[in-house]
Amino acid sequence: MRSAKSARRSSPANELRRKPYMKDTEDLLALRQTLVRFLDNEVPRALAAQWDRDNHFPRETFLKLAELGVLGLTIPQDFGGLGRDIVATMAVIEELASRSLALAIPYINAACYAGMNIVECGTEAQKAQILPRVVEGRMIFAYGWTEPDSGSDLASMRTRAQRVGDTVVVNGAKRFCTGAGESDYIYTLVRTGPEQERYRNLTLLLIPPNHPGVHIEGINGLGLKGFPTTDVRFDNVELPLTAIVGGEQAWNQAWPMVVGPGLDVEKLEVAAMALGVARAALEDAWSYAGERRQFGKTIGSYQSIQHKLADMKTRLHAARLVLYHAAQLANDGRPCTGETSMAKLFATEACKYIALECQTIFGAYGYVKEFAVERYVRDALGLPIIGGSSAIQRNNIYKWMKRQ
Ligand SMILES: Cc1cc2nc3c(=O)[nH]c(=O)nc-3n(C[C@H](O)[C@H](O)[C@H](O)COP(=O)(O)OP(=O)(O)OC[C@H]3O[C@@H](n4cnc5c(N)ncnc54)[C@H](O)[C@@H]3O)c2cc1C
Repeated sequence: MRSAKSARRSSPANELRRKPYMKDTEDLLALRQTLVRFLDNEVPRALAAQWDRDNHFPRETFLKLAELGVLGLTIPQDFGGLGRDIVATMAVIEELASRSLALAIPYINAACYAGMNIVECGTEAQKAQILPRVVEGRMIFAYGWTEPDSGSDLASMRTRAQRVGDTVVVNGAKRFCTGAGESDYIYTLVRTGPEQERYRNLTLLLIPPNHPGVHIEGINGLGLKGFPTTDVRFDNVELPLTAIVGGEQAWNQAWPMVVGPGLDVEKLEVAAMALGVARAALEDAWSYAGERRQFGKTIGSYQSIQHKLADMKTRLHAARLVLYHAAQLANDGRPCTGETSMAKLFATEACKYIALECQTIFGAYGYVKEFAVERYVRDALGLPIIGGSSAIQRNNIYKWMKRQ
């Protein structure tokens, strides 16, 4: 297909790659440069497009990513990690997402879901078993929280577990469980007492996806490919008591774990993905606008296109500031529930706006599979939904404002 897809002109977005955040330290810049080199060497754009097309998890490349040590950014040094650094973790997610969600999503599922959650909620035995393997890229969790009848209202979930002697028996179903078929454990939220006691009778379990009684079926979504999303059913799944996250004393005690500091960081993870996708879309649109000619001039010489680029750049910049400000608060252990909700809301909505604007700059070429912009659009449409929808973030922000 004839197109203007190869040209690259110097762009403010490329500039951002070199100096991505005004408060980036030397260490953070070095980290970003390492990742840019890794992605340029290991993940050419055509390969990223293929992983998206095939909904393929590139495990070998993920293991190479682990060799950079970046999976240890959520894990204490005692367990082989680099020590907890939320800002750096977000920078990794942003850089990976700017090239391929097939690396960014499993990175989150490993470093944050397995790493950070087990640091915060696991027993010493669970930490010793799981955390060093996360650092090596050999331990990834899927999140089994959403169910067919419970999404935003998580506490209405019905998957049930009962203690039977020295075992726990699980029955029920989870929906949109991303990466269950590729993960080592499904980090599963289950009801362990009466349904009416919504928040007091929940427990977290580690369920191996290949355990007898676990059935997994793919869900064919629009975007966010590369770590396939699934339906999971549990039929009399019998587990040892060591499967209880936090040990036996954590039975019925999961709600504080669900809404703890991990939730703030979870919102930021999605915001960081949005920033990466939006940045990639703007870079492509900038190049295309400088190359595509109509009526004897590049389309980028028309003011209507220039204004689109300027508006996108402004939102991208604002998204970057709101994200990294909230990440710094989370890193310092300061209250940040309002800031993290604003970051999730603003960055994901900005990403959707930017991807759709980029598509208009590409004209018909933004509507065909040969160009990455259609992938950015598909991914951008999912980001305001996952990890708490935009409406739920607005609810959180309003409640937080009332408490000020
Ligand atoms: C690609 C993909 C991957 C996912 N991966 C995972 C995963 O790995 N693990 C997991 O557990 N889940 C996952 N999810 C599920 C995701 O977290 C939920 O879809 C999300 O929480 C919203 O739930 P829902 O889709 O059931 O929407 P619902 O809760 O049914 O909401 C429907 C609409 O109503 C609005 N709404 C609901 N309640 C309110 C309210 N109180 N006030 C105002 N508006 C409201 C919502 O904003 C939305 O617009 C994934 C989803 C997708 C699409």
